Amino acid sequence: MSTPEEKYSPPRKRLFISLMGLTCLILVGLIFMAWWVPNRGLANIHPDLPHIVGIIMAVLSGLAILGTGLLVLTTALGKDIFFTRFMRLVVIKFLLPVIESVGRMMGLDKDAIRQSFIAMNNSLVISQRQKISPDRVLVLLPHCIQLFDCEIKVTGDINKCVLCGRCDIKGLVEISRKYNIDISVATGGTLARKVIVEKRPKLVLAVACERDLTSGIKDCYPLPVIGILNDRPFGPCFNTTVDVRKIDEALSQILLVEEPELSKS
Ligand code: SF4
Repeated sequence: MSTPEEKYSPPRKRLFISLMGLTCLILVGLIFMAWWVPNRGLANIHPDLPHIVGIIMAVLSGLAILGTGLLVLTTALGKDIFFTRFMRLVVIKFLLPVIESVGRMMGLDKDAIRQSFIAMNNSLVISQRQKISPDRVLVLLPHCIQLFDCEIKVTGDINKCVLCGRCDIKGLVEISRKYNIDISVATGGTLARKVIVEKRPKLVLAVACERDLTSGIKDCYPLPVIGILNDRPFGPCFNTTVDVRKIDEALSQILLVEEPELSKS
């Protein structure tokens, strides 16, 4: 049976978990070598020193294995077991750059690793099972979600949309009304940061491409961000689309709303 977050986070996180396991093995190997190589030299300083350093290295290896196991369990069960917030810090700030390097060495696609990271991040955010009031959640959209030929510019106010249905803005306006939630369209990273500073949300649900979501999640930490990937049927940054149901499902799980009213429009 799938965990709730998997409804909008397909099992792409497996790649990140596999790379994380590999990174953990490399790390443990390096720790072992760091103990083993100078081992004989250490004995010359003091006969007990190799054992003491060996114990320290074993503890470090144990922590690396324990941390990896805890991350895998948290994402597999979708539950906040221990230190989920701290693990998000480790994944975002430390593991991601290492895993990107390992993936690059293995010739893996950069976007596949980023997708996996985003899915993993979403799992960790959802596993905290926070319930947040609608006025503290911000949905951020890229401007390319709007139809290029539309004469109405919804940047600044999504409610200017007249709901013609030629692009996904219609569905997103309906979601905004259904949950009484703030949805902003940002024309770039700088504007997105400005909107976040102004609105001071407790959680951001962002729609973007792999690259922008990954950098956004990193930049926003410790603010939790749920990332939803857009689709680019016409290439990047032009008439992109998003599966509105994924946003609806994500919001229904994080919002402190008993029974959301359906939009009548
Ligand atoms: S749904 Fe129609 S009116 Fe609204 S932004 Fe898209 S094209 Fe414009």
